[in-house]
Amino acid sequence: MTATRSQALFERATAVIPGGVNSPVRAFHSVGGTPRFMVRGEGPHLWDADGNRYVDLVSSWGPMILGHADPRVVEAVREAATGGLSFGTPTEGEIELAEEIIDRVAPVEQVRLVNSGTEATMSAIRLARGFTGRRKVVKFAGCYHGHVDALLAQAGSGVATLGLPTSPGVTGAQAADTIVLPYDDPEAVRRVFADHPGEIACVITEAAAGNMGAIAPRHNAELRDLCRADGALLIMDEVMTGFRVSRAGWYGLERVEGDLYTFGKVMSGGLPAAAFGGRADVMSRLAPSGPVYQAGTLSGNPVAVAAGLATLRAATDDVYRTLDANASRLGSLFTAALTEAGVAHRVQFAGNLVSVFFTEHEVTDYAGAQAAETWRFPPFFHALLERGVYPPPSAFEAWFVNAAMTERDFEVVADALPAAARAAAQVTAGAAK
Ligand code: PLP
Repeated sequence: MTATRSQALFERATAVIPGGVNSPVRAFHSVGGTPRFMVRGEGPHLWDADGNRYVDLVSSWGPMILGHADPRVVEAVREAATGGLSFGTPTEGEIELAEEIIDRVAPVEQVRLVNSGTEATMSAIRLARGFTGRRKVVKFAGCYHGHVDALLAQAGSGVATLGLPTSPGVTGAQAADTIVLPYDDPEAVRRVFADHPGEIACVITEAAAGNMGAIAPRHNAELRDLCRADGALLIMDEVMTGFRVSRAGWYGLERVEGDLYTFGKVMSGGLPAAAFGGRADVMSRLAPSGPVYQAGTLSGNPVAVAAGLATLRAATDDVYRTLDANASRLGSLFTAALTEAGVAHRVQFAGNLVSVFFTEHEVTDYAGAQAAETWRFPPFFHALLERGVYPPPSAFEAWFVNAAMTERDFEVVADALPAAARAAAQVTAGAAK
């Protein structure tokens, strides 16, 4: 497969866009090689600028559960766009989208629309602080909640009562009230509540982890109890899992009630939209009904709302059954090829999010994900890419199936995997890029 056009575009992009991309993981840094510049998506496929076709196992990092350019969504977008791109006034579609979200996720009583998952988590944390009158925020290592200053803080290990910035530009003050704990370690959470009674505004967690690979959590119910006992709010970040892993997101698979929820990706239909929502007594503290300020020129944009609504309305129980079946089938193909090649691995699921970790051990937290033989991933990735499969370009990302995949697409994946597994087997730690 040639990447001549992609290479030329990447060079051009690098001159005018930092790193040539508008979101870092797209740059292929951790796998090496030339990022593919896509020109078209239809159903389960992407086409790059050199005319190569790929079976897409990223699905725009989650949103495209129906596949690309689903005709129902495209028609809804066309109709909305024809009627005007943005009004800066309320519209009926915003009510319908809020009602659809509330209908699907029982603990959500009110919804505010925003433009990105980052904005959703940022706003949810401000609201939690405003509601409780407290400052501290607990997050978990390996969970990603967007590039919110306070949430980029990471723990080196164990409890960090004073978060240190992990990105230049995040000041100590911005991170000082963030406490980072290991994922799925309720004992650590209990200790932090004991050390800071009445000080913690909220605990924010990915409802199931997807940003260090897929990890189905065990701690959610305990987080619920600990927060309730202390008067802190539990924020379930369902930006990745929401409306993807079931009709009601992770909540549909594990009925642990959050006080606030954040959503994005699927509910945007692939356009820039996201949301946060939850208990009405908390949400009503938002401006203009309450004093916690939050706003957005393009929030509730009619075209994005139309795409989100059309996607959710098309996401029937059948679609979720297909997503689950496709994820399970992909996992079985990983297992078969890697076992045949003699590569130690764990295929993990969080609902229909799939991950392959190059380790013998179950991965339950970030330390476990980092301890895997991630250097096996680049050759695995490139062997798939060369054979017409588009995997996530990072060992730490989940794989996202869509419901448009056909038998033929699975054949492409099945045909590509043995060579990829052999490449993962043959590489040595020092040789990997
Ligand atoms: N929260 C989670 C769980 C995410 O996976 C992401 C993005 O991947 C975000 C928040 C941030 O969303 P966005 O990239 O739309 O800002």
